[in-house]
Amino acid sequence: MYQWSEEHQAIAAAVRRFVDEEIRPHLDDLEHNGVAPFAIMRKMYDVFGLKEMAEQNFARQLERKVSGQEPHGHSRGGSDPSAQLISTIELCRVSPGFVTSLGVSTGLAAGTINKLGTPAQMQRWSLDLMTLDKIGAWAITEPDSGSDALGGMRTSAVRDGDEYVLNGQKTWITNGPYADTIVLYAKLDDGSGDELRNRRVLTFVLDKGMPGLDQARPMRKMGQHASPTGEVFLSDVRVGRDRLLGETEVPLGGGRQSAKDNFVTERAGVAAMSLGVIEECLKLCIDYARHRTLWNKPIGDFQLIQLKLAHMEIARINVRNMVFAHIERSLDGVVPTLAEASAMKLYAAQSACLVADDAIQIFGGNGYIAEYRVEQLLRDARVLRIYAGTDEMQVVAIAKDLLRS
Ligand SMILES: Cc1cc2nc3c(=O)[nH]c(=O)nc-3n(C[C@H](O)[C@H](O)[C@H](O)COP(=O)(O)OP(=O)(O)OC[C@H]3O[C@@H](n4cnc5c(N)ncnc54)[C@H](O)[C@@H]3O)c2cc1C
Repeated sequence: MYQWSEEHQAIAAAVRRFVDEEIRPHLDDLEHNGVAPFAIMRKMYDVFGLKEMAEQNFARQLERKVSGQEPHGHSRGGSDPSAQLISTIELCRVSPGFVTSLGVSTGLAAGTINKLGTPAQMQRWSLDLMTLDKIGAWAITEPDSGSDALGGMRTSAVRDGDEYVLNGQKTWITNGPYADTIVLYAKLDDGSGDELRNRRVLTFVLDKGMPGLDQARPMRKMGQHASPTGEVFLSDVRVGRDRLLGETEVPLGGGRQSAKDNFVTERAGVAAMSLGVIEECLKLCIDYARHRTLWNKPIGDFQLIQLKLAHMEIARINVRNMVFAHIERSLDGVVPTLAEASAMKLYAAQSACLVADDAIQIFGGNGYIAEYRVEQLLRDARVLRIYAGTDEMQVVAIAKDLLRS
């Protein structure tokens, strides 16, 4: 695959229309007035029939689970990953934060329940998340254990009869302030005195309003204002085994493996998000370079501006090829290794930031002013180098794989 098919282009055009009609008019509210994106997401699901597709997708995943097969990773759209990635690219031209919020709820939260949960748990929580009837969060990060998420985790689950008592704190949790359903990782403290780092990681599902669960208000942050981010506090939260995913302390692949599986899906998704930012910056810059006139010439005539445009185009081609290769391989059922997904994420996220920064330079003072939108794209792109694993952690994952004997 080296270009979008006619069908793909039709999907992109339809999403673009939705963005123009339903997101752009509300961008100020999403960006500056603290309005959460959930109502627009639900509208998008209605307009594109995504709710029905999610129900069908859920039914397929449930059937696979009941028959003992691995569930599919994709929870938006059908089994073709291109439709989901195309909508990610188009939405990220305008609001990467919208995509983060949507991806965490329908991808990470629902995906983890589908992967680790029993059929009853899937029915109890996942269907509502996949259809957006409910909003989900996925909580692993803690104040003292960001990149060392699994080893350094301190949130504890202590057995008490048939129940567990959860205590701890999670931070920077996307949708955390409003989520109806929270997929939460905790370390089993079975009283054996095992070193904290080596304790088993269990995955629980919590509902908003449970006693002892506090979802703090959204944090102020640099970018992605359309995506609410916050802390989650657990103070003696009592949960039955029915809230432990898989209802066993030795789940399929273990809680640690489930977190790692998510890294692969997330990292490929970030590449598509980066492509949206790059394409939009390039489009805006070409237009600006043609129309901004200085010394009686459009600035596009200046070679230093041309150099920036050329670098942007190279980044666009490279990231697009990576996304195409990912789609092609997914259709063949090939899952990228952690190192491959990390390489893609590292390159794409860095490229998006370089491109957005150059876009501001091409726009000069206007680039620094919100009306021209490139400043938002840079602020929104910046976190692509931090979440789903920092740049440095991508390097570690790639190098580990290369050096493995
Ligand atoms: C907007 C936003 C949304 C987020 N959403 C979620 C979410 O929904 N759920 C969730 O669980 N988490 C979420 N996160 C958390 C995110 O995944 C973490 O911020 C990220 O994993 C990095 O952790 P940290 O911020 O604690 O940085 P740290 O781990 O403290 O890292 C600090 C610096 O040290 C470097 N470093 C760390 N270890 C190494 C090493 N071994 N070698 C070299 N350098 C190293 C890092 O790369 C970084 O440069 C979100 C974060 C943000 C900002």
